[in-house]
Amino acid sequence: MTAPPAPASLRRVRDALLGWYAVAHRDFPWRATRDPYAVLVSEVMLQQTQASRVVERFPRFMARFPSAAALAAASSAEVLAEWSGLGYNRRALSLQRAASAVTRDGWPRDVVGLRTLPGVGPYTARAVASLAFGIPAGVVDTNVRRWLLRRFAVDDRPASLQTLADALAAPGDGGEAATWTHASMEFGARICRARSPECEICPIAVSCPSRGAAPHVAVPRQAPLRGSSRAYRGAVLNRLATAPAHELAEAALLAAIAGDRARVGPGLAPTGWERILGGLERDGLVHRRDGMVRLGAATIRA
Ligand code: SF4
Repeated sequence: MTAPPAPASLRRVRDALLGWYAVAHRDFPWRATRDPYAVLVSEVMLQQTQASRVVERFPRFMARFPSAAALAAASSAEVLAEWSGLGYNRRALSLQRAASAVTRDGWPRDVVGLRTLPGVGPYTARAVASLAFGIPAGVVDTNVRRWLLRRFAVDDRPASLQTLADALAAPGDGGEAATWTHASMEFGARICRARSPECEICPIAVSCPSRGAAPHVAVPRQAPLRGSSRAYRGAVLNRLATAPAHELAEAALLAAIAGDRARVGPGLAPTGWERILGGLERDGLVHRRDGMVRLGAATIRA
């Protein structure tokens, strides 16, 4: 096991990154807010979706559903239609359930409480705790993991990385919790990048054991999209999101997807189609009635 870095070394790294972030960061719209709802929306969107795409979609989503109460009051079809194209659509339904919970019970204000919200895992709880509530909780995303491994040569174990991230996030002389979380993530995304890290202009290059020879830090690879269940599920949801009243005849929907072979896949046998549609129904993403497929879960009529 690698010895933990000395507190003075951690302070130097923290101070250098905060100084760099103050002059070099990008002004993303979610960085200008401490509203826990807006922070949660942005964090959920940023999971599995590139920041360049979230830049377009986050303001639109916030304009449509400006508060947790507004999101909680919407139909699942409205939420899924607005989420269309961002992928991993179950995230949208979990986000809506979280919005319902905080509208009913108020916001939990610490990591443990935030973890109880639907769809909120350890990473998201820590991100919201630091970004919205100013709690000095270390946040380890893909970018942070990479630079921690390179700069400190610690064990590549979640517990080791979390301990190190927490030590770095502890309050120091400069910068508050939210700024540190943004700085830590931004540094990994902009300077200690996966490919071609910018060691020549790196603000923490002194004493970096990886300087000039940064090792590749592997991340789990996603399977190719075309032909996958994810591709067919996404195609169904995208078609319904743009259809009038968010519904289509099942036969027309199947024909539309079969006609999009280049992007979606080579087509599905009846059992494969049933597997895709049945899975979407079980996840509450679509429902069928009278030969029609409609976006969202069925609403129970009184
Ligand atoms: S010197 Fe290079 S490898 Fe080390 S932290 Fe900076 S960018 Fe990353």
